[in-house]
Amino acid sequence: MSHTYEAVKDFDQQDPLAMYRNEFYLPENRIYLDGNSLGLLSKRAEQSLLGMIEAWKEHGIDGWTTSVHPWFYLSEKLGNEMAPLVGADAGEVIVTGSTTVNLHQLAATFYEPNGKRTKILADELNFPSDIYALKSQLMLKGVDPESHLIQVKSDDGHTLNEDDIIRAMTDEIALIVLPGVLYRSGQILDMELLAKEACKRGIPIGFDLCHSIGSIPHSLTDWDVDFAFWCNYKHLNGGPGATAGLYVNKRHFGKLPGLAGWFSSNKEKQFDMEHEFTHADDAGAYQIGTPNIFSLAPLIGSLSMFKEIGMEKIRAKSLKLTGYLMELIQEELNGHGFILRNPIDDEKRGGHIFLEHPEAARICKALKADGVIPDFRAQNGIRLAPVALYNTFEEVWKTVQILKAIMNEEKYKQFENKRGVVA
Ligand SMILES: *Cc1c(COP(=O)(O)O)cnc(C)c1O
Repeated sequence: MSHTYEAVKDFDQQDPLAMYRNEFYLPENRIYLDGNSLGLLSKRAEQSLLGMIEAWKEHGIDGWTTSVHPWFYLSEKLGNEMAPLVGADAGEVIVTGSTTVNLHQLAATFYEPNGKRTKILADELNFPSDIYALKSQLMLKGVDPESHLIQVKSDDGHTLNEDDIIRAMTDEIALIVLPGVLYRSGQILDMELLAKEACKRGIPIGFDLCHSIGSIPHSLTDWDVDFAFWCNYKHLNGGPGATAGLYVNKRHFGKLPGLAGWFSSNKEKQFDMEHEFTHADDAGAYQIGTPNIFSLAPLIGSLSMFKEIGMEKIRAKSLKLTGYLMELIQEELNGHGFILRNPIDDEKRGGHIFLEHPEAARICKALKADGVIPDFRAQNGIRLAPVALYNTFEEVWKTVQILKAIMNEEKYKQFENKRGVVA
């Protein structure tokens, strides 16, 4: 690959997804590389949100059943539109709740301590919210979270080894919850292998897909995963706090939700207002209460793009972007003390790269001051996510040039090496 500026322009000219960049509101004079934390607003998402406000204005209560996107069925409808992104069949996905609430729901449903099987298996690199949720689920079942949450260790502090995880699937484990893509190093776990091994041992297994949905393809149903959950504000560009998603394999349909509410009901029965609960016979049963319609609405527009393009093309461009970024970092930033902590192989690398540097916090501040929006992760990590739908190869090239100047001129020394409130 030639790295002259002209060659970069060629990549962009040959990019089959180039036209989608115009569909987004891009921050002016900024290079946005934080789409794995909060995806940008697209014009389609804006239109679908504004349309929903109009529907409320026009229909009032009747919006539940008579608007363009009847609110009463919207979570199910969007669930079916999202299903191809995780490789699910009809009825297996519902758009509801938040990541953490959905994990609570699924752990309350699938964690059934019995005899010797009382422990939950997770990993030591997992996102804190997932760990807090699992510990509180253990406490709710009356078991000691310290001795009953088993966290598989990482050898290098950045990645996990599937063999270590499989070895930890003992006959004391009642539930397994792992990430699909690790939020820091971007490592993709072999979900198919892990699901197969869990299934052999009769342990239900679920995945947190926050960093993998919209970034890599999945085949949850073919892999026979039991359940999954994710947020829709990262790669899916659903907006801050967008309503999240969950997947339940259809062989579990009919399993009582651990946390029931009237939206867990069979939709025909819900408004009968009976105190005898008739739950939905698909993933809809794991909803709880009234959906946040305005937090669902942007997904109508956003998902239409994913449907149009398909995950294969998005993944192909994403790999090319991160591959090019890694190559440039190795060539241009040599000797500046950066270590790439994400997996290098295409098969193991998610949608972002993770650079480690002792001065990471203030390098991020210097990047922001010079127009690049990265994502700082304590203690010393810089996540860079060039997103297939709206970032360009030119932006990747410029980012590395800017980073090189920051290091050569020691511009980061103007800033304190401390993190901000959010990133
Ligand atoms: C972003 C993220 C979350 C966020 O959970 P919320 O309930 O949406 O706040 C959880 N888990 C992982 C792995 C994440 O990356």
